[in-house]
Amino acid sequence: MQTYDYIVVGAGSAGAAVANRLSADPRNTVLLLEAGRASHPWSFIPIGMARLIANPAANWLYSSEPEANTNGRRLPVPRGKLLGGSSSINGMVFVRGQAQDFDTWAQMGNRGWSYAEVLPVFKRMESYAGEGDAAFRGRQGPLRVTNPEPRDPLFATIIKAAAEVGIRHNPDYNGASQEGIAMSQATIAAGRRMSTARCYLDPVRKRRNLHIETEALTEGLVLDGKRCTGVRYSVAGDVREARAAREVVVSAGTINSPQLLELSGIGQPERLRNLGIEVRHALPGVGENLRDHYVPRTRWLIGKKGITFNDRGRGLRLVHEAMRYALFRQGMLAMSGAPIRAFVCSREGLEAPDLMLGWIPMLTEPSPRGPRISRQSGVTLYAHPMRPESKGQIHITAADPRRPPAINFNFLSSPPDAELTVRAVRIARAIMTAPAMAPFQVSEVVPGADLTTDDEILDWVKQAAETTYHPVGTCKMGSDPSAVVDAQLRVHGIAGLRVADASIMPTLTSGNTNAPSIMIGEKAADMVLNAAT
Ligand SMILES: Cc1cc2nc3c(=O)[nH]c(=O)nc-3n(C[C@H](O)[C@H](O)[C@H](O)COP(=O)(O)OP(=O)(O)OC[C@H]3O[C@@H](n4cnc5c(N)ncnc54)[C@H](O)[C@@H]3O)c2cc1C
Repeated sequence: MQTYDYIVVGAGSAGAAVANRLSADPRNTVLLLEAGRASHPWSFIPIGMARLIANPAANWLYSSEPEANTNGRRLPVPRGKLLGGSSSINGMVFVRGQAQDFDTWAQMGNRGWSYAEVLPVFKRMESYAGEGDAAFRGRQGPLRVTNPEPRDPLFATIIKAAAEVGIRHNPDYNGASQEGIAMSQATIAAGRRMSTARCYLDPVRKRRNLHIETEALTEGLVLDGKRCTGVRYSVAGDVREARAAREVVVSAGTINSPQLLELSGIGQPERLRNLGIEVRHALPGVGENLRDHYVPRTRWLIGKKGITFNDRGRGLRLVHEAMRYALFRQGMLAMSGAPIRAFVCSREGLEAPDLMLGWIPMLTEPSPRGPRISRQSGVTLYAHPMRPESKGQIHITAADPRRPPAINFNFLSSPPDAELTVRAVRIARAIMTAPAMAPFQVSEVVPGADLTTDDEILDWVKQAAETTYHPVGTCKMGSDPSAVVDAQLRVHGIAGLRVADASIMPTLTSGNTNAPSIMIGEKAADMVLNAAT
């Protein structure tokens, strides 16, 4: 059995950052275990996202349980299964969230997580190539972030239409204020996806004290009483154990981190006993507090030819785009999943936006594995509350690490979420029907202009909404009885064990979740290293 100072489980957005920072000191030996492969050919090219969203070679392909407010549908829950984790398959949109998100975490009793305390971490993790205030933006970190220009006529027109309904252009929504419309900042540079595999692992692969093992599924934590001393994992059916002289950091993500704790006997005693799992430590919050964005995608036909990516993704125009990408690393093949976004207040008097809108410059259609590209030409616009209050759960259903856990989102169980979702759809409509859009001959496909009352829109949401893949919260940070980790990310009641990934977020951040997940990994590494000195 091999012994390392630190074992990190999961090489995703957070785990890759943890492993990079812990192994920076050559005296620390680090084992990084990743269930997925080292990479996938489509994970390097931004447009490759479309080929990864339902690809078992790179994706865990989970789905949720049927629920009343999804009209009994199972929603796709893709999760990256590669080095880089979900940052290797995601939409590459870069949003930190609002100052208030982190101040809320601190006010909940989590010392060290206020905006003033996480801002230096956000700055040190990025190399931002756009214009920005040095008080907010970093220039020398490992993660490359770019800010595309709204040169495309479609993007420029959408920004103009938003202005007509009172939404101003904001050149840096990751700066002093989030509010407004902007091109999406992206973890894309020189036309390549900037995953954490690329930015945090590739540059340090030669470190002799960092051992990265791929296609290595961690099946359980090894516990000696109330101390975690290592992990049990399997490679091609061969079960192995590794010992951690100092700590194990679980960074397996919001679905798999609680799964691994439960498989190891840490969780709700009755649930574990019913599955024949020996209870090693009672921790009722494991798997609870699941939060995600439940997102209606409004769909719009565009009559004017050659404007949308549906038109540009066919025939000779596609050849042109391919050439443009090959020669200049530009064009639709080099774009993020939703290249324009707006952060909007649902009503006057709010201190900060509570809704997010994101434009996909092509018409998509729902399919059992998530949205796919339509043969018609248009635009898809999602619109949703950013800080929903509805909470669900993720729990294992068997003692088998290969059996997917049951995911219950419980969407719209909190009434304000429903009200805000309807409001978001109405704002989407207002922008798409603003005078600036008229030359594009826009018509509404769904929800459909004939659905006008709140109840009609809400019924459509229940039939059609999906997630934008931002599950968080299932190993919540805090000090109340439902918390799983403390503010230092140590699992309550178990020594030598931390969780560091999106699962520790007590509430959803205002926006997409890759940036805050990487920040959590960075901060976790500081905590681990501080504890060792
Ligand atoms: C399709 C998609 C699109 C998205 N688009 C965006 C976007 O545009 N912008 C944005 O900000 N966010 C986006 N997100 C969300 C964002 O990518 C995630 O919130 C973030 O990557 C989560 O980071 P994490 O470290 O918590 O987990 P992950 O990055 O998912 O990492 C977990 C890692 O652990 C590994 N693992 C799991 N279980 C085990 C085990 N038992 N043993 C070993 N390894 C294990 C997994 O394979 C994975 O590599 C998207 C997500 C998806 C899936």
